[in-house]
Amino acid sequence: MTLLGTTARPLRVAIVGSGPSGFYAADALLKAEPVCTVDMFERQPTPYGLVRSGVAPDNMKIKNVTKTFEKIAAHERFRFFGNVEVGVTAPVHVLRRHYDAIIFACGTETNLRLGIPGEDLPGCHTATSFVGWYNGHPVYRNFHFDLSREIAVVVGVGNVAVDVARILSRTVDELKHTDISQDALDALAESRVREIHIIGRRGPAQAKFKENEIRELGRLADCDCIMDPADLALNPESCQEAAAPSVARILGILETFSRHTPAKRRKVVLRFLLSPVKITGDARVESIILEKNMLRGEPFRQEAKGTGEVVEQPCGLVFASIGYRAMPMPGVPFDARRGIIPNEDGRVLEDGRPVPGLYAAGWIKRGPTGLIGTNKPDSAETVQKILEDLPNLPPCEAPGPDAMPQWLAARGIRAVSFADWLKIDAVEIERGKPRRKPREKLSKVSQMLAVIEESPDQ
Ligand code: NAP
Repeated sequence: MTLLGTTARPLRVAIVGSGPSGFYAADALLKAEPVCTVDMFERQPTPYGLVRSGVAPDNMKIKNVTKTFEKIAAHERFRFFGNVEVGVTAPVHVLRRHYDAIIFACGTETNLRLGIPGEDLPGCHTATSFVGWYNGHPVYRNFHFDLSREIAVVVGVGNVAVDVARILSRTVDELKHTDISQDALDALAESRVREIHIIGRRGPAQAKFKENEIRELGRLADCDCIMDPADLALNPESCQEAAAPSVARILGILETFSRHTPAKRRKVVLRFLLSPVKITGDARVESIILEKNMLRGEPFRQEAKGTGEVVEQPCGLVFASIGYRAMPMPGVPFDARRGIIPNEDGRVLEDGRPVPGLYAAGWIKRGPTGLIGTNKPDSAETVQKILEDLPNLPPCEAPGPDAMPQWLAARGIRAVSFADWLKIDAVEIERGKPRRKPREKLSKVSQMLAVIEESPDQ
């Protein structure tokens, strides 16, 4: 009989990734009846994943969820190992030797590509890079966006597209007391972008953005949101889809946009039934060619079909905001078609069979869908599977909980603990004070590690 899950021999679980799904999984494990210890691994020295580097800075309320995560991290059976990249500096087979179970909660980091000619021209960017840049993410901090152009096009009509358009159209006054990176704010202050087109390949009834997000676009200080009333004409199948209250409310908001006469300095133009087919320009983006679409198929399963008719939209910037996919990790099965780890309710599958001890949670489990709160039941489901499997889980080889930190230290890997992160946190909050910002993020890993070395232990 297994002793795993007792005080004498707690179930040792590693969680890879410190975003919402990772923290919700940790919470469920630490509240479970079998005694579990949780070691959370994170590539960055800082925790919280997309809550820190994805949620738009003008959405500060959403970021308050970190207070909940902080409480989870304070649990005596929780440890944080930041600055450790699983699959690279710490291979998965090493983790398997040290943990009875591993939950991959590392999200879907790569933007899908448009797959059209001209996509690699300067001026064409992924939403991920722009979002990472304005959020001060170490990987994207030095990216350059030429904001001297007047017209920008955002492809995709999800919440990320709305975030990108909103940050491009806010005034400095609207952003200056948020946690936006100061470099991004300074660049946006000089921005000459006046017109932002958001392009949907299907119709307004199929848009993926949520009600609150689209409503906010109509409330910007110096930007109008408009659309062509003709784009609101629905085919019979879309009328059926529009009967859902959430869709009807969104269409109601769009209807007000369609009656709006723009008067402010900037405008966001929502456009539908258009697919990008080519980005043109000699040395950089000069325009995007869009093919007009019609919808085909049954209600709720309608797809965009090109009509052959094209229109050209001059622009100096293009942002592809069409969803994400994960990158494969050595030693972990990968579904290349869906861009996720193949799994059944969180149990990782290889050739259709569960791999003992490997689990997935969050976007890498189900794909990039849902809001932060969606991850709570999703992670709870994965933890439930671990608990069901507990009687049959083979205990890992490692002699005890010190083995993993010793393995890292022996290789000169400077793991960042949660106490270390709290030092970075305190410095960032202090740096924000002169500008009345909630924090001014450190965006260089070397800066973060220096802060840890220089700050006294509490
Ligand atoms: P998303 O909601 O899946 O939207 C992707 C958009 O890209 C859809 O409009 C999709 O159209 C379109 N698209 C896909 N492939 C395309 C192609 N080849 N050409 C043209 N358009 C294409 O993804 P997301 O905006 O990245 O958001 C990811 C998740 O994060 C969502 O669950 C979202 O709600 C969440 N999120 C939430 C917030 C918030 O709560 N404030 C903020 C940001 C993100 P089709 O529908 O036709 O496929």
